[in-house]
Amino acid sequence: MVEGTENCLHLEGLVAAAGGGYRCPVCGEGLDDDGVSRWVGEAERARDETYSVDEGDGFSGIAREEAQREVYRRRRVMYELGNVPRVATTRPEMILVVHDPGTASYGCRIFYKEPRQAASVEQVSVAAVLDTILGLRSDPDPIVRLTAEKVEEFHGLREKLLGDDEPAPERRVFYANELRAVG
Ligand SMILES: [Zn+2]
Repeated sequence: MVEGTENCLHLEGLVAAAGGGYRCPVCGEGLDDDGVSRWVGEAERARDETYSVDEGDGFSGIAREEAQREVYRRRRVMYELGNVPRVATTRPEMILVVHDPGTASYGCRIFYKEPRQAASVEQVSVAAVLDTILGLRSDPDPIVRLTAEKVEEFHGLREKLLGDDEPAPERRVFYANELRAVG
C-alpha cells in the first residue's frame, strides 16, 4: 500500500477484483458498484463547492476547471467499468462434449449467446481420466470449472455403461437448462 486509502484519488483507475467489485491498483481499496457511484459523487460535490467559494479571481476559475476535470475522469472510469461484461454473468448456451477414442480424451466446445465476452473460453480438452477431469474443477476460470463438471458427469456415465458392457455414447450436448449459474 503506497498511501492511506482515504487520500488516494485512484489515479490509475479501477480494475475488476477477483471476488467481484473493483479495486484500485495503487492503494488496494475495494469498491462495489455503489462505492464507485459514491466516488464519482464526491468529485461532483467537490466541484459544486468550488462554485460556492467563487471569489471572482482567477484562482477559483482554475480550481473549478480542475474539479470538473476530476468529475469527468471519475465518470470515465465508471463508464469503462460498466462496459466490461463480468465473467460471472456469462453462462454458456450449450456445451458439446465429444469423446475422442484415438487420444482417449474429451474435446469440449462451449457456445455462448451473443454478444459473448471476448475473453470467454471456447474450447477445453481433457484426458479421459477422472483425476485429470477433477483437477479442472479448481481451474481459475469459472467456465472451465463448469465444463469440467459436465465432463465428469459424462465420463461417469460412459464408465458405468462400459463397465456393464453396454455401448457408451461418444458425445453429449448440455443445454443451458442443465448448466448452473456461473460465478
Ligand atoms: Zn486508490
